[in-house]
Amino acid sequence: MMGDRDFRTTIKSAVDSIGKELEIDINSKDFQTIHLQEVVQCLRRSYYDRIEPEEIERRGFNELLSGLLRKLQYGSEPKNFEVDDIKLKGQIDMLVDDSILLFRAAPDELEDPLATDVLYLNACMWIYDKEDGVIVYITGDRKETTFSLTRNKKMFEEVIRRVRVLNDLLKEQKTPILEPSMECSDCQYYEKCFMKKKNSKQLSLAEMMGLGKKDEI
Ligand code: SF4
Repeated sequence: MMGDRDFRTTIKSAVDSIGKELEIDINSKDFQTIHLQEVVQCLRRSYYDRIEPEEIERRGFNELLSGLLRKLQYGSEPKNFEVDDIKLKGQIDMLVDDSILLFRAAPDELEDPLATDVLYLNACMWIYDKEDGVIVYITGDRKETTFSLTRNKKMFEEVIRRVRVLNDLLKEQKTPILEPSMECSDCQYYEKCFMKKKNSKQLSLAEMMGLGKKDEI
């Protein structure tokens, strides 16, 4: 008989393997192609994902919903938007009657859509040249919350600005600044951003007070 512990490990590895299959395929060396997902989330996270990636911990099948719909291609081929010599690549979950639909998992029913999802949907409306879009949040117990949006140019310009910033930083191999947000609590780079390394060298009192070593003064 399979113990509870083994059972959990099996589920976790199934979720991890399906998650890997459904991940957006990003060529980490191709800095001239930036994926929309990379610029609506924290730029530092996207930078680390390309330059020194760490595995993400997936929590359940519900999280895989959007990737599954994208893979099944319900009327949505990935599409590029040219930003000078950079390609911004987006992909929607579904296209119905000229409206873009995104599906996202949510722990509870939401009062407002998440900022990253609004940025993503708005950018898709420009990339696919559509006027309307909908985000559907689905909870683990299958409750739905739906938000409709009309496109906004200023918001898209902000996404374009972030595309240029990420492209520059990748080319210059410079780590983007911290973007502290709710996203940090689930981020695999949390320790890298916010904790000191355990084996870091001990600082002298003078160094901690910003006085430096005696012979450097
Ligand atoms: S911990 Fe926060 S600031 Fe650091 S990479 Fe992750 S999301 Fe960005």
